[in-house]
Amino acid sequence: MKKETFIFVIILLYFGYGNVWGADHSKRILALYSYDATFHIYQESIKALKEVFPEPTYEIDVDFLDSKRFPNGELNQNLLERIKIRQKNNGRYDLIISGNDNALTFCIDNQNELFPEVPVIFWGVNDLEKAFAQDQNPYISGIAENISADKLLTVIQTLHPNKHDMVILADDTKTCIADLKIYREALSEFKELNAEIVHINDMTTNQFCSYLRKIPPEKIILLLAAYRTKDQFLNIQEIQNIIIQNTGNIVYNANEFGVGAGYIGGTVKNYFEMMYSACLWGKQVLNGTDIQHLKVIKEPDLKIQLDYAQLTKRHVNLSLIPHEAILTNTPQGKVEIKKVNLYFGLAIVFFCLIILMFFVFYINTKRQFEKALRVNAENYLGIFRENLSIMLIINPEDGKIIDANEAATNFYGYNTNEFKQLYLKDIDILPQHDLNVILHRFESGESYIQVKHRLKNKQIRDVELYAGRIRFGSTTYLYAIIHDISNRIKANNELLEAKRKAEESDRLKSAFLANMSHEIRTPMNSILGFSSLLEDSNFGSDTSKKYLRYIQKNGEHLLKLINDIIDLSKIEANQLNISLKDCNLNMVLDEILVIAQNQLNLAGKTTKIRIVLTKGLTNNKFTIITDEIRLKQIFINLLNNAIKFTDVGEIEFGYKFRADSILQFFVKDTGIGIPEDKRKIIFTAFGQVEEYATRNHGGTGLGLSITRSLVEKMGGHIWVVSDLGVGSRFYFTHPTKDNKLNL
Ligand code: ADP
Repeated sequence: MKKETFIFVIILLYFGYGNVWGADHSKRILALYSYDATFHIYQESIKALKEVFPEPTYEIDVDFLDSKRFPNGELNQNLLERIKIRQKNNGRYDLIISGNDNALTFCIDNQNELFPEVPVIFWGVNDLEKAFAQDQNPYISGIAENISADKLLTVIQTLHPNKHDMVILADDTKTCIADLKIYREALSEFKELNAEIVHINDMTTNQFCSYLRKIPPEKIILLLAAYRTKDQFLNIQEIQNIIIQNTGNIVYNANEFGVGAGYIGGTVKNYFEMMYSACLWGKQVLNGTDIQHLKVIKEPDLKIQLDYAQLTKRHVNLSLIPHEAILTNTPQGKVEIKKVNLYFGLAIVFFCLIILMFFVFYINTKRQFEKALRVNAENYLGIFRENLSIMLIINPEDGKIIDANEAATNFYGYNTNEFKQLYLKDIDILPQHDLNVILHRFESGESYIQVKHRLKNKQIRDVELYAGRIRFGSTTYLYAIIHDISNRIKANNELLEAKRKAEESDRLKSAFLANMSHEIRTPMNSILGFSSLLEDSNFGSDTSKKYLRYIQKNGEHLLKLINDIIDLSKIEANQLNISLKDCNLNMVLDEILVIAQNQLNLAGKTTKIRIVLTKGLTNNKFTIITDEIRLKQIFINLLNNAIKFTDVGEIEFGYKFRADSILQFFVKDTGIGIPEDKRKIIFTAFGQVEEYATRNHGGTGLGLSITRSLVEKMGGHIWVVSDLGVGSRFYFTHPTKDNKLNL
């Protein structure tokens, strides 16, 4: 069933089916036909009538106007009488079902006399004007016929684009006159079709036959209706025979199809459906619906049926066949087979649609997935590119750098393109062999290492490197996150150095304390010992003097020790002050020479060592601005050491002016000398060449530390040059730049 028909039936069911099964059995129905019982309409429609109004529930009379054979209503009076008698004998009809135009006209004309206030439902009426006019009639309504003139003309024009001439065969039956009116209107829209209307009722059958024979072969014949010639009534079979025998032209049929009988095709009417629809309305009216609520409607567009064999015989381009046309006489069979094909085709179309939908869904999902992936990838790339940590992507096979982020380019100084030309060996200071081992370890799952990396500007930085494997498609790379730990390493080293120094200082202090107790106790013991000797015994004056010299010497030693300690504590508290004033250098050095000679004497080395003073300037009147006391202290410290560590030879001290006009002092001896590794430590507090346990000479290890502090405080610098076993030469400078030399 076609879609339109299906909807039409649904509408009818909605409006008209009503309470079919609850119908009143006493209802009497008259089915009135325009033609006679031999007419093909009757066969189909009567089935529908019986189906909707089954006997014995409904009492049905059927009657005919026979208007094909008696078009001028010759039998109408007779019919009128018959109906009157029937109604008189059997009771009034409750419902009239009227088929085609003539029957409707009869009902209208005799409504008051035969069927006053009796509902009349018509069907198959071609006169649309008359049909729709019944909306004004309170007891008549129905379904007008749709002859689908536009549709058939469209099919004809589509299938025969080169044929423009047409002969339309018509007669003077009411139906045909109504149809002709519709066709005329439709043709006005088909400008290319040149149609000639031929009324066969003006010709005898023989004239009609000879007319047919004369129609030029290129003209298309459209058979509208040919039931009556001037001298004869023709049934459908007779019409078909006349046409097929007298012309070889293409014939379409506008009303009844003759497909399979030589016509190429035409409109297909379904009389069963038409009658069925009318009966449903009738039943609804019988069940109480007011007929005035049922407005006249037009049946849906008719189907077009084409003879496949005829189409091929006439060389019609089959691709032009409209898809909605029903084909019969196909190689597979007739309409039924075609329907099967149609269902099969629909199934294929449906299947294709499903595939298409699936495909569209798949493409759509794939696109969304790809978009999500792209967004994801961009996000991850963003995390890589904009990460504040230095990140590299490395090929583990050869160490090639595949990519580097912005933090890496900032740190190493290479731009991204330069990076992509580099290998790990270009930034790591390790040899290639060691790098291969590291890459292999990363590949095996190790993730951390500390190495040194070289920047583009050749600077070397300590870095720690975290690595892991990452897959791009089928390739595995290493990602490396790098942290610059140079500052941390430096701070760590400084901490270690500070620790070492603290330990060293601690060790020196321990040594100092042991040393100090010895240094204090020795002179104290001498002082106390010789004092008690002087008190208890009567010695000669020489011995007494000798003992007193010992007491004095040890007292001085103690005083020096105490002075040293006080100086050291002042130095450490940064409270050692320098007091500058004019000083006659040569005179000061002369004084120092006397003190040194005295020290040499006290040490009992006067016979073994000669002390020499060398002055840079002989002018005894020149002065320098300095702290005289501290200058003396420096010289005495150095000279005491020289005396202490020299057994024989010469001690020379003095000064000279260097080329850069810096005043440079010196104390040289021919003593035991100082090993190279000790030449720095001796200037630190408690620093001595020998540890206390192995020491041959006394001392606290403070003298040179104080001396260095004093020299530096006065803006100078002290250092020693020494040869082991040969002697030592201490030098210190005294700036004259700010300290104007007063000559
Ligand atoms: P002290 O002499 O009291 O031990 P110093 O600070 O004056 O302390 O000297 C530190 C050390 O430097 C001495 O113990 C000695 O080992 C070494 N030293 C200093 N001067 C000389 C020198 N002229 N010749 C050899 N060694 C010296």
